[in-house]
Parts: sequence; structure tokens; C-alpha cells
Amino acid sequence: MATKSATQTKKWHSRAVTRTVDAGNSAYCAVCDELIKFRARIRADQIICNVYVDNKWDRVEHYHPECYKKAKAPYGNPED
Ligand SMILES: [Zn+2]
Repeated sequence: MATKSATQTKKWHSRAVTRTVDAGNSAYCAVCDELIKFRARIRADQIICNVYVDNKWDRVEHYHPECYKKAKAPYGNPED
């Protein structure tokens, strides 16, 4: 069950980057709660966000690129 928190107004130093999904990837999407799967034939990307709370690193969140877009890029536009 996903809890939806809308805390976008805070100024965290969180950053998002785009990374290729590795074969051994076992991260779950923070939006849809599904595994971000490696696909042999498709070059799948994921969005990885380093989330900072009160200027301290707190956690890493993973997203499907389309889920990240749907969530309106909570940590800004992903860098390459
Ligand atoms: Zn997703």
C-alpha cells in the first residue's frame, strides 16, 4: 500500500538521476510499488533519487521513468 505524501514545498537537496536498469536490479518503484525489471531486449531506464531530509541524506527512491513523470517529478528533472 502506497502512502502519498505531498511535501513538495520543502527545500531539500534531493536529486534525481536517470540510470539504466541492471540485470540484478531489485528495486521497487516508489509510485506503483512494482519491481523495476531488467529487460534483455529493451534498454530500460529507471529514475534514482537521493532524498535528503533536513539537509541530511535520508534514503534512495527508485521510479519507473513514466511513474516519475506521473508523480510530476517530485525531485526535479532527472539528470543523466
Ligand atoms: Zn512505477
